[in-house]
Amino acid sequence: MIDPNGFKLSVASRIVTHMDMFIPIRTQTPTLETKSEITKVRTTTPGKEAILYEKLPSDRVRCTACARYCNIPDGKIGLCGVRGNEGGKLKLFVYGKIIAGNIDPIEKKPVTHYMPGTKIFSIATTGCNWLCHYCQNFDISQRRKIEGIDVTPEEVVAMTKRYRCQGLAYTYNQPTIFMEFAHDIGVEARKSGLINIFVSNGYDTPQTVDLMRDFLDCITVDFKGNSETSFVRKYIGIANSDPIFQTLLEMRDKTDVHIEITDLVVPEIGDDLVSAKKLCAWIYDNLGPDTPIHFLRFHPDYKLMHLPSTPIKTLEKHHAVAKQAGLNYAYIGNVPGHPLEHTYCSGCGTIVVDRSGFDINGWHLDDQNRCKSCGNAIPIVGHLSDAVNEERFIPVIM
Ligand code: SF4
Repeated sequence: MIDPNGFKLSVASRIVTHMDMFIPIRTQTPTLETKSEITKVRTTTPGKEAILYEKLPSDRVRCTACARYCNIPDGKIGLCGVRGNEGGKLKLFVYGKIIAGNIDPIEKKPVTHYMPGTKIFSIATTGCNWLCHYCQNFDISQRRKIEGIDVTPEEVVAMTKRYRCQGLAYTYNQPTIFMEFAHDIGVEARKSGLINIFVSNGYDTPQTVDLMRDFLDCITVDFKGNSETSFVRKYIGIANSDPIFQTLLEMRDKTDVHIEITDLVVPEIGDDLVSAKKLCAWIYDNLGPDTPIHFLRFHPDYKLMHLPSTPIKTLEKHHAVAKQAGLNYAYIGNVPGHPLEHTYCSGCGTIVVDRSGFDINGWHLDDQNRCKSCGNAIPIVGHLSDAVNEERFIPVIM
């Protein structure tokens, strides 16, 4: 398989690619046309003054980009490693820097009920506001260095268009830590008719949600271990999941953003069915029965190499819990070929979108996204993109 820049893509790598994991999918070192173009453009000093912060006495600042609300003295940085106090002003050091960029199927985010079959340019910076012991992208998320290729928002959008993508995803690390950069890219992208997607832990603030309104179309909010408090304290380093629920309510009430939910089910330590039931009930009550939920299979990584992959039976039990809670569109992920990857009509139960991994193999909806068997309206935004037949895995910046 060869991409337009001549890279040889590894089919084996595609098979093991997990949601939304950044892994090199090449078998030779590419000479990146885009890289050489971009590096001509230099920023003088890295970064830009942030918007999401408050000034405090004694030259301290309070960052409002995420629910940690770091209180940062002059000369220090916040926990995420990319926002710091310079002379009493908060600076986003990774503004204009991208550490990773890949073209992915939208289904890999995972997003299954929004613009299906599209090609999405997925980007990230270094750093993260969470300290997940299982992080599959730890190489970039836990890197506390300001590194990456220099790009302007306009150049990111130009790349997205050059690769004939239908939109952008801000993913692999927590996008709200680089919110001001994402915002400027997203606003520029919208001018070109591109969509913007966040793959987010949802550990945000009302101020970040407010900025999302300018550009964001879709979000998949990733819970981990069913959001259970002892799990998130021990394996993520946050007090509890309350800010995530608060973010979802803010988004529901103040934005038109399409919302999907994921839950990484970690065997032995984050697979409690009672917690899963509570999470599903909350989603049903607050976001509605048509909110898609994806239970993702954990695989050993980073500090949790000693755990096994999530047993498929455990994922199936979680799926059953979601259905019992009344959620119409529950999926399991990272198990290519499993029947619970398909979209089933909530009216008659037939398969309306046949999926395998990130591929769509059958589309059984009419032109108004109604089930062809019973006429039930399926809550999917957009029709199947022609891009579904194109190569949708292309490394761009590595
Ligand atoms: S975005 Fe970073 S600096 Fe700001 S509150 Fe969160 S961890 Fe702290």
